[in-house]
Amino acid sequence: MKYYVLFGPPGAGKGTQAGAMVARYHLCHLSTGELLRSEIAAGTPLGIQAKALIENGSLVPDQVVEGMIESRISHAQGVEGFLLDGFPRTIAQAQVLDQMLEKRGESVTACVSIMIPDATIHERIAHRAHIEGRADDAREEVVENRIQTYHAKTEPLIQYYRQNGKYEEIDGIGTIEEVQARIFALMDKH
Ligand code: ADP
Repeated sequence: MKYYVLFGPPGAGKGTQAGAMVARYHLCHLSTGELLRSEIAAGTPLGIQAKALIENGSLVPDQVVEGMIESRISHAQGVEGFLLDGFPRTIAQAQVLDQMLEKRGESVTACVSIMIPDATIHERIAHRAHIEGRADDAREEVVENRIQTYHAKTEPLIQYYRQNGKYEEIDGIGTIEEVQARIFALMDKH
């Protein structure tokens, strides 16, 4: 099984690129952001707990997303691997993922990182706010908090995956097709 970690700052285009990636490599797409938004929409206890945190630009507790990912990895059938989108987002989550996979005799295949500068993050999220109507895109201070959270808690993962030789970065600036071609070129090597 392949275990790709799709990495990048908010607005890098992870969700946009994920569809083509899962289709081409027969992967199960696990987006923690999407899973959490559907828990919120369904009004589950987990959703109620996550809503306030997400809408203020903070992360939900590690254990919450770890549980969501572990149960889906163990139940998936008929796929050649997983595209983990938005997970891990902290070093602690990355360590738990490594342990989870080790128990299955597996490991992360590659961390595919889509990189864009902070100025582009703001532009993309402002644009998306009009289209998707996500509560965490609407307010500038929330977007700012997500970017700060990314730099403080998520960016250290670059070093984590570099150290174990799994880190692969592509430039997220360009058309959707251009970025997709860069991602495919890289995934074809793994
Ligand atoms: P984006 O890619 O724009 O950052 P996501 O849809 O991936 O947005 O995530 C939306 C929100 O869901 C995050 O800001 C965070 O509050 C929560 N979230 C998603 N994944 C995780 C995670 N792995 N750990 C903690 N919180 C998460």
